[in-house]
Amino acid sequence: MSTVGDTIRARGHGRIRTLVIGAGVAGLTLAALLRQRGEQPHIVERAGSLDEAGYNVALYPIGSRVLHGLGLFDRLLATSRPARYYELGNGKGEVLHRFDFDAVLAQYGPLVGLKRAELLAVLRSALGDLPIHVGTTVTALQPEQDEVRVTFNDGSQASFDLVVGADGMHSATRSMLLGPEEFAYWDTGWGCWVTWADEAIVPPETMAEFWGAGFLVGIYPVKGAQGVVIAGPTKALKEDGRIAFAEHVRHHLRDFGGPVPAVLDALEKDPRPFFWDLHDCRCRRWTAGRVVLLGDAAAGFLPTAGVGASMAMMSAAALADELSRADAAHVEYALRLFVSRARPKVEAAQDNSRHLSKLMMIDSLPLAWGREQLLRFYTLDQALRDIMRVMEGTI
Ligand SMILES: Cc1cc2nc3c(=O)[nH]c(=O)nc-3n(C[C@H](O)[C@H](O)[C@H](O)COP(=O)(O)OP(=O)(O)OC[C@H]3O[C@@H](n4cnc5c(N)ncnc54)[C@H](O)[C@@H]3O)c2cc1C
Repeated sequence: MSTVGDTIRARGHGRIRTLVIGAGVAGLTLAALLRQRGEQPHIVERAGSLDEAGYNVALYPIGSRVLHGLGLFDRLLATSRPARYYELGNGKGEVLHRFDFDAVLAQYGPLVGLKRAELLAVLRSALGDLPIHVGTTVTALQPEQDEVRVTFNDGSQASFDLVVGADGMHSATRSMLLGPEEFAYWDTGWGCWVTWADEAIVPPETMAEFWGAGFLVGIYPVKGAQGVVIAGPTKALKEDGRIAFAEHVRHHLRDFGGPVPAVLDALEKDPRPFFWDLHDCRCRRWTAGRVVLLGDAAAGFLPTAGVGASMAMMSAAALADELSRADAAHVEYALRLFVSRARPKVEAAQDNSRHLSKLMMIDSLPLAWGREQLLRFYTLDQALRDIMRVMEGTI
């Protein structure tokens, strides 16, 4: 059987010999754009298969607009649901506001929700005959003169002009590249379960969130279902387990009707909901020589503002653009330009997600009560301010 290194050598390379580690949102967006420009990037993916169930993502135009150039935007629309309205409620299940984002989004393009697995399938459709080496990881990165020697988990090796670590929040590339003092996880102390509920539990085209004391319920449209999130302090989630925690949330609900009971039912019915610790990660640098971090590997996102995937796609587009203006000899210059373009915007969006998490994840009843009084005066302009900031400005 041929090794990963043999297969890579047999397929050959494009203008810049490129390895992409991770076939997630960032890695696939980059690979699709490079292929469109005539490159032949090689992609390795740790997962043994490409059809994991995963969770829902919302995509803002700042990320999804990349799909116009790949000829995939209509396909995105066909596999997703638009999110035009945002309902914000309290821990009793009462809706405090219903905001209409449509007029603002009309300037930029739709905000859509879809299953992450479906987004990956859309991106994979642009890879043509580029293979993804599944079940494959990198065990060593050795910088040599004008190239990087890579060792794969089957023991084989290959050399590249550029290595892109797009291997997500817990990136192994990051740990190989940076010292432990050069990156830090920022922990909220909360975690969440993510599962699917019936599409009809909220009005059409509506995202809804209910912020309680010590819990949070989120409902996000995808095609044929609602992606639902039940978050709380990690200690309570782990100690209680999903059935008891759902019961605890139910105890706080008043008789407003509403979608929260259906979300709790969905959580109780799913024996293996997706679990995610709510932390992010920030790095002091994104590059070392000819190796660059991309997407969550460079700046891991909390899901609170729903922009991590959008930022990963935007960053991949900026990197593909800089690489299109470089040759193999000047990859490091292209990487410096990429970082100076993408990093300020990405880290500003990461700050937004952190600020939002402090508002959303409140344990104490009195503080949650105070928040609710403030939220009653929350306006559409305030709700849109951060979204507009992310959409505007240079990249
Ligand atoms: C519950 C939840 C909800 C979210 N909701 C939203 C949302 O609504 N909107 C939004 O924009 N973002 C959302 N996000 C964040 C978003 O999913 C990420 O920011 C985005 O996926 C980052 O893309 P990425 O390519 O960097 O990482 P990923 O998409 O995570 O991809 C990383 C890939 O690398 C692979 N990999 C990992 N380790 C290795 C290795 N050692 N070797 C090879 N491959 C490896 C993984 O298997 C994976 O395929 C959410 C995240 C979570 C957890």
